[in-house]
Amino acid sequence: MQSPIDLTHRRVTLVRDLGYLNHSYSAAEASIVNRGHDIMVRFDGDAGSLVMNGTVYYLRQLHWHSPTEHTVNGRRYDMELHMFHESADKKAAVVGLLYVVGRSSGFLRKMEPYLRMIADKKDREEKVGVIDPRGLRGRASVYYRYMGSLTTPPCTEGVIWSIVKRVGLTRNDFIPCNKRFFSSFGIKSVNKEKNFLS
Ligand SMILES: [Zn+2]
Repeated sequence: MQSPIDLTHRRVTLVRDLGYLNHSYSAAEASIVNRGHDIMVRFDGDAGSLVMNGTVYYLRQLHWHSPTEHTVNGRRYDMELHMFHESADKKAAVVGLLYVVGRSSGFLRKMEPYLRMIADKKDREEKVGVIDPRGLRGRASVYYRYMGSLTTPPCTEGVIWSIVKRVGLTRNDFIPCNKRFFSSFGIKSVNKEKNFLS
């Protein structure tokens, strides 16, 4: 199945009592990278891993989409964070979080100045120091789970998606920052602020 999807799809299961998804994350040195189609926080050091069905998936990078790619009952939220994990044999597992505008988390506040720094500069990267992925998902213990694909080319299938059911908060000024970035590369925006740059 190709991602993204609406999370009311019949093939989506609601997984409870997973606690913290059996992860062992750790703080690691990271860089923020403008990849052209999105902005990514890449872990240069060992940020730890997630174990699912006996397979270890290492946390490699985080990136954002604005507005969200996944919808819930047809509703699109303001922003979606993807935590991209990869196993030793290159299988992918993504943990996603949906956000609406509100009072933002400490993590997003820390990223904001770096995001602004590279937003208009393709292939630019900046060291952001040590990033701690613990606590990024908050206290969520209920997930939407399905087998999907990468949402960008090559759209490889066989990706395990776990999307936190509880919606998080981000500050309003983080969203325009993302929008400005996306529109600066001509990526179509489905929101009303598509002329943000012009
Ligand atoms: Zn993504």
